Amino acid sequence: EGESSYDDVRYIRLNNSPNHHALQAKLSQLEGAETALVTSSGMAAISTALLAHLQPGDHILVQDNLYGGTHELMWRTLPSLGIAVDAVDVCNPGSWAEKRKPSTRLFYVESMSNPLLRVGALDRVVAFSRQHGLLSFIDNTFASPINFKPIPFGFDVSLHSATKYLNGHSDLVAGACIGRAEVIEPILKKLNILGGCLDPHAAFLLERGIKTLALRVEAQNRNGLAIATYLANHPKIEQVFYPGLSDHPDHARATTFFTGYGGMLSFTCQGGAKAAAQVVASTQLAACAPSLGGVESLITRPASTSHACLTAQERHALGIGDNLIRYSVGIEDGDDLIADLDQALAQI
Ligand code: PLP
Repeated sequence: EGESSYDDVRYIRLNNSPNHHALQAKLSQLEGAETALVTSSGMAAISTALLAHLQPGDHILVQDNLYGGTHELMWRTLPSLGIAVDAVDVCNPGSWAEKRKPSTRLFYVESMSNPLLRVGALDRVVAFSRQHGLLSFIDNTFASPINFKPIPFGFDVSLHSATKYLNGHSDLVAGACIGRAEVIEPILKKLNILGGCLDPHAAFLLERGIKTLALRVEAQNRNGLAIATYLANHPKIEQVFYPGLSDHPDHARATTFFTGYGGMLSFTCQGGAKAAAQVVASTQLAACAPSLGGVESLITRPASTSHACLTAQERHALGIGDNLIRYSVGIEDGDDLIADLDQALAQI
């Protein structure tokens, strides 16, 4: 009664409770943006944002190596809706022009890729998108707003699985789309109809989790670098993927763009998939579980968790072997985490 339009009705699916408004204001300030929209999961944020801005007949450029769920959305769901997708190597800007078509609308990247931690030429993604009138979307989950703020950097939309660093306690699922009002507004309209709203109690918990975001991510940056350095010097380790290591192929870009290298790393050890499974099963502080970005360290093999929905052939093409181990660094004491990895590696 007395409401002037549907959007003025207070209804949870419309994302307009006081909890939503408080959380959205906090997220937009965190990333230096005009506005933000919270969603029921990271995938709800990503899918709703894409569906709000794409039409059948459109074409998009996407980073070749993406989170498994996003990969599936790009390569299986969007084409079924008449949206064409091409993969690009984000580290090689010279290769992008030949992939662009008159129908190209959008460029989609991750700030640090999952699970190999590639950091693309993000400045060039912004410049290329502006030059050709494309929308630039970035999944900023891995970097978190503490290490990277995509909107002041020039991206149109910053997306998050708020399930991860933003919440930080591995006890809820949520997502976020952050950017200018003119870009976020159509996503809200689409969200209202597709239904991926955030439950207000989860909004309350997420708002509370964000209070410690900066402290958590600073601890994770520190532990991440310490663990990556330890692994890089271990005789049984073959390769370590962490952008903070000087021999990571994207170290220079990560140093230029980010204020910290984050808490995600991956590595391979001698002995193949069997030894990798043994290491994952042998850590006692780091739990073997999917997800990432929480206060507790987690260890997984992407082939059986985050990238299980890709075929073995797709994983192989991306350099994600069955022996790859991904480690999400928590806020525990760094020496304890290293001692835990040390005893696990001693068992192979
Ligand atoms: N983006 C990245 C980089 C992720 O790692 C994940 C989940 O692991 C998602 C998006 C999807 O988020 P959610 O599980 O909250 O839907």
